[in-house]
Amino acid sequence: MQTPFTNLTFCIRTFGCQMNKHDSERIAGMLEGLGALPVEAIEDADIVAFMTCCVREAADTRLYGQVASLKNVPLRTGSPLAKRIVAVGGCIGQRDGEKLVEELPHLDVVFGTHNLGSLPRLIEAAVEEGGHQVEVLDAASSFPTELPTAREHDWAAWLPITIGCNNFCSYCIVPYVRGREKSRPLEDIAAEAERYVAAGVKEITLLGQNVNSYGRDLYGAPRFDAVLDALDATGVERLRFATSHPKDLTDGVIERFAKLRSLMPALHLPVQSGSDAVLAAMNRRYTRAHYLDLVRKLRAACPGIALSTDVIVGFPGETAKDFEDTFRLVDEVGYHQVFTFIYSKREGTPAAKMEDSTPREVVQERFDRLVDLVQTRAFEANQADLGSVVDVLVEGASKRDGGLLAGKSPKNQTVHAPVPSGSTAEALAGSIVPVRIDEARTWYLAGEVVDGR
Ligand code: SF4
Repeated sequence: MQTPFTNLTFCIRTFGCQMNKHDSERIAGMLEGLGALPVEAIEDADIVAFMTCCVREAADTRLYGQVASLKNVPLRTGSPLAKRIVAVGGCIGQRDGEKLVEELPHLDVVFGTHNLGSLPRLIEAAVEEGGHQVEVLDAASSFPTELPTAREHDWAAWLPITIGCNNFCSYCIVPYVRGREKSRPLEDIAAEAERYVAAGVKEITLLGQNVNSYGRDLYGAPRFDAVLDALDATGVERLRFATSHPKDLTDGVIERFAKLRSLMPALHLPVQSGSDAVLAAMNRRYTRAHYLDLVRKLRAACPGIALSTDVIVGFPGETAKDFEDTFRLVDEVGYHQVFTFIYSKREGTPAAKMEDSTPREVVQERFDRLVDLVQTRAFEANQADLGSVVDVLVEGASKRDGGLLAGKSPKNQTVHAPVPSGSTAEALAGSIVPVRIDEARTWYLAGEVVDGR
């Protein structure tokens, strides 16, 4: 069937979180469904869509730079279009709307976080009528999972269970650009998961800004533990979720790490700071003691669970003692991975108005000390797997060395191993193979594929 998209090519550039990556899969699903062909290089694309993130200033600046530089990239030979269509969506589209086309006049389409599904219509209008097509809605009319998806890998799927966020952490722009939290009915989630499992998906990652508060808007109380039970019952091999706000992590969810076969022993639990004063200023609504109590309960339920976290260094007003509290907490927990960030001011958030008098070099020195600690503790955490056999979900050839396969352990560690003779990394992609670990580094494990245990 011919559509206005037949014979057009597109590419998508994605910034930011897993939710944005998933939104990009939805866009690819829609455009492919209409007959457009995905291409890797911008030079080959008739349509370029940017899925944007405004959580950090760096991504924001990068987006404006990349879109500006597209002006000089000629349209491919043989394109059915008179000019390349450039679209910006996601968080920056939602936040900046018309301002984007004022600053980037060669931009054709702007859409927001609530109207992914409008993109094909906006592109068609840009092709037929020209001019700027800007559409940003205040709230979603439907859950975006009703749109088709072109998944990056056959064996893995992201499954959004909530969109938006009600937490208003004082540094964060997300509630302003993603809107209030909206949960998806449990039966819809279970039905989508069943379809994935029937199609051969091995790993499902549940997504939400705060999955722990799932269901509060629909059922009057959070029911995330029920979602985990329903997903486990589908027979999926690996189940993960992100992101988990510590204030809403319940004993019921912690117990699932002990009880559910499919729930992988890894949890991203963003702490942001180890200082009660800073946590209060961040409006995180938990204390250091509460967080450490969660860690204790998680380790009691699931010994060896791999914990990861996010830490912001240099939040406005952070004192030397506040930073030491964070440093001690990171030391005490012994995370497998810590995503460390220097505080970046986001206009429109309460923290942007807070006094910030700590000199930049002091913040940098704190940051560097923390990164050293993170690396030491990550290295130590990985030593626990030396000599053991871990099940690795193969993702393909290692980017480091094409003769190695790369995949993920149950604890979400990257694992490398030589490709067994007679096979290829590509052929093994999506299968789970046992690997005996004989090398444990800070950011990866390495070993040999073995026949059995
Ligand atoms: S929980 Fe806080 S940090 Fe996470 S998206 Fe919501 S407001 Fe932002």
